[in-house]
This record gives sequence, C-alpha cells and structure tokens, in this order.
Amino acid sequence: MDYDVLILGGGIIGCAVAYELSKYSLNIALIEKDYDIADDVALLNSAIVYDGVECEDTLVAKLELMGNKLIDDVVSKFNVRFKKCNSLIIAEDKKSEEKLINMYDKALNRGIDNIYLLDSKEVYKMEPNLTMSVKKAIYSKNTGIIAPYDLAIAYGEVAFDNGVNFKLEEEVLDIQKVSKGFRVITNKNKFSCNMVLNTTPGENYSIDGSSKVSKNRSYLKHFLLDKSFKGSFKNIVSTISETKETVYSVPTVQENSMISIKTDEDINYHESLRKISNFMGKLSDEEINTFYESPFYNDTLIIDDSLIDTGYIKVTGKHYGQVTMTPAIAKIVCETIINNLNCILKKDFVDKRREFYRFRYLSNKERNDIIKVNKNYGKIVCYCKKVTEGEIIDSIRRPLGARTLEGIKRRTEVTFGSCNGAQCLNKIATILARETNKSMTEIVKDSKNSRLIVGRIKEFDEI
Ligand SMILES: Cc1cc2nc3c(=O)[nH]c(=O)nc-3n(C[C@H](O)[C@H](O)[C@H](O)COP(=O)(O)OP(=O)(O)OC[C@H]3O[C@@H](n4cnc5c(N)ncnc54)[C@H](O)[C@@H]3O)c2cc1C
Repeated sequence: MDYDVLILGGGIIGCAVAYELSKYSLNIALIEKDYDIADDVALLNSAIVYDGVECEDTLVAKLELMGNKLIDDVVSKFNVRFKKCNSLIIAEDKKSEEKLINMYDKALNRGIDNIYLLDSKEVYKMEPNLTMSVKKAIYSKNTGIIAPYDLAIAYGEVAFDNGVNFKLEEEVLDIQKVSKGFRVITNKNKFSCNMVLNTTPGENYSIDGSSKVSKNRSYLKHFLLDKSFKGSFKNIVSTISETKETVYSVPTVQENSMISIKTDEDINYHESLRKISNFMGKLSDEEINTFYESPFYNDTLIIDDSLIDTGYIKVTGKHYGQVTMTPAIAKIVCETIINNLNCILKKDFVDKRREFYRFRYLSNKERNDIIKVNKNYGKIVCYCKKVTEGEIIDSIRRPLGARTLEGIKRRTEVTFGSCNGAQCLNKIATILARETNKSMTEIVKDSKNSRLIVGRIKEFDEI
C-alpha cells in the first residue's frame, strides 16, 4: 500500500482532517489540484463563526455549535486572526417577527445558551447607526469573526510539519474500490491506499455511483468598506425576512467592515447599494474599498460514511457555515478513520505552527529587534497594510509556502488595502519570481491560466 489514508481536496476540511490525522502513526497524503491549499476558501478576510441559531437544519446547527466551541482553542494554538463579536438577527415587520421568535425557541430547544430576545429600543441603543425599522432581534454572545484562509493554511502547515505528504497540482480523476483498499487515479499517478476521505466536489468517480448532492445557491454581493466609514456597527448584524433577501454587516478582522446582501436574483452593484441603503443609510462610492461577488452556498452538508466498512468517507455539499463547522467535522471524520485503522498516537507530534511576524501589529521595539536580525523586515512593500519584504519572503519559504500572488495575499494580507495592489503588486511578483526561480511571465494570480504578465512586448539582442 502506498498510503494508509488519502485525503482528496486541500480545502479547509481536507487540511483540518489532515491535521487531526497527523497526530497518529499513519502514512497520509493529501491531493490538491491547485497550486495552493485553501485556494477555494472565500477570499474575504472575515468569516462569521456562527453558533447554530440561524440554521434551519438541526444537524448542521449541531455541527456549527460544536465547531464554535472548538474554535477558541484552535485559534489560540495556531495564532489565527479571530475576534469574539456578538451578533444581532433583526426582524423588521410582523411576519418576520414570527419567524424570528420561532428561530429563538428552536435555538433554546437545541440547547444554545447566551442568546436573548431584544425589543427595538434595546437594538437601537446597541446600534445607533441602524436605519431600518426593527420589531425584535435575537442577540447572541456566542459568535465571532475569523480569517478563514488563515485557519485553513494553519491546519495545513501543522499537518505538513507532522509528516502529511501534500501533493499539489495533482488532479484526482477516479477513485476505484479494489480487492484490498482503493486505487486513486490522478493526472500524474496511481495510488493504492487503505482508506479515502473525499472532500472534492467530483460526482463522477467510479466509487460514488449516481449519488448527487442537493444544491441550494443564491447570489451574494459584498462591499468592503473603507476604514474612514463612520456608520459601522459594533456587532455582526443580519436581517431575517419573508423573502430570502438578507443583509449582513460584519466587522472584519482588520477593523473595517463589510456589508453583504444575499438575493435570489442576480442584481447589479447599484441595485445592491439601493437595497442596502434601507438598512444603514446611503453608502457613497468613496466609502467602498472593494466590491466582490460570490455564490451563497446552502447545500445539504453530508458526512457520508455509508461505505465506511470498505474504508471510504465523503464530505459533500458547500455551506455558508462550513468554516465554523470545520473543527467539528475534522474531529468526527478523524475518529471514524482511526476506529477503522490499527494506529496509535504519535509521541513526536508537534502541535504548533511555525512562528511568523505581522509587522503592523508589533511595537517599534519589537520591529527593531527583528530588523537587526533580518534587514528584509525593514523594507515595507505594501504601504496600505504595512507588510514588509521579510513577511513576503517568509510566506513563500514557509512549509507549504505560497506559489501564487493570491497565496501571498492570503498569508500576509498584502493588497487588501485601499490601493488594491496598485502600488505593490509588481514588487510582490518580482519577489515571488526571484524566490521561486521563475521568470516574471510565469507568475500566476492563482490558477494555471491566470498569468499576471502575458509576455514581453519587446525583445532586444543587444542594448
Ligand atoms: C463568499 C463566501 C463567504 C463565506 N462565508 C462564510 C462564513 O461567514 N462563515 C463560515 O463558516 N463559512 C463561510 N463560507 C464557507 C467556506 O469558506 C467554504 O464553504 C469552505 O471554505 C469550503 O471548504 P471545503 O474545504 O469543504 O471545500 P473547498 O474549499 O471547495 O475544497 C475542496 C478542494 O478540493 C479541490 N479539488 C476539487 N476537485 C479536485 C480534484 N478532482 N482533484 C484534486 N483536488 C480537487 C479544490 O481545488 C479545493 O481546494 C463562505 C464561503 C463563501 C464562498
């Protein structure tokens, strides 16, 4: 057998399970088709850590609550950007008030503590910038904000340091059951293994038969607001309404805020802004740093272990609360796998992420001490976010280091500022080319067909 366990897909769930399994005496590999892990984790710097209150599905609510309780420990261990932040779910009319009270009762029955039903006076007192009408709100003290790709990369790095073999740029084409274990066929190799965890969305592998995930998608438009914007909210605020239209305001891990609107129809920038203005007043273009569109995922999320007797587990479905659920899903899947394999806990497991510096959060004394050791930390490359050349080089040289511009962005937060990379993108690409021994024309944004520079415009034999 090549491996005890093969994990297919290097998204947040694949990386988290790799981390949990790397605590055991197992030979593990993870296969990811892209250049980088966590490549599909939303490139928004803040995800909500939910608590299961908002969820219709009871099983998903349980996973969110369990994930919510585990996340504190994970973020402090791995130094992941996370902020405790209370939340308000607001009903603006009589009909949505009924829905909200139902939601509150359901949450109490699910055993969710630290939640309160507030009337409009209490809500306006908490959030004076709110312009929408309010009937009632659920106030929760359980929620928070996390940098989702930071969490995914941290899981991956620690798994890598504890011996998991990461196979990037390798695409799974088929998974076959053979007499002993499985054969996983990729575009580069054929592997044999005892167990498979499949987190890829592929539906045409021989092993899966005709099972299809029930998909539930709508549209999300996000407005990342400038730091100068004065009308933000203290809490995570969202609406509940009779239609499926929902507005979210989320304070980000970088101390600005993001407003998002979820709709069934694909509306444009101006229509989205118009709808948001009912919620918090008119936003001007100057107050908007970035506009970003994405699907809203609310699939049925399934941990399918119906073939566990043969050694196959599949996590299917994309869900808006997947980051929250990840620590819980990883523990459940890991337990199922180790119960099926003969393995013990490793004595030399290191539960620690290699150190890194974030210059903008350090004191001048701390900065000077680091610059004395490595002068690259004395050169600022991204002026908006105050990211140094030392941080960029470290993001490339680390275990599972960045190989793309988005990889550097996810690891250091370069280009997340108000210039969106206009000042620094070229410098970052030059550092990446130098560090990876590539030419500038080979540098990609994130995937194979996303080259930053298409080609040279002039060739000279002599200058
Ligand atoms: C806009 C947006 C906002 C979100 N906000 C939140 C939030 O506030 N709170 C929250 O908890 N969650 C949130 N989420 C959810 C969360 O970010 C994602 O759902 C989650 O990252 C998905 O994780 P995953 O590992 O399951 O899947 P993916 O990240 O999709 O992982 C699957 C991996 O498999 C790889 N792959 C696919 N096919 C193959 C193949 N054939 N061979 C090899 N590899 C393959 C892919 O490249 C990918 O890396 C949000 C998502 C989006 C899009």
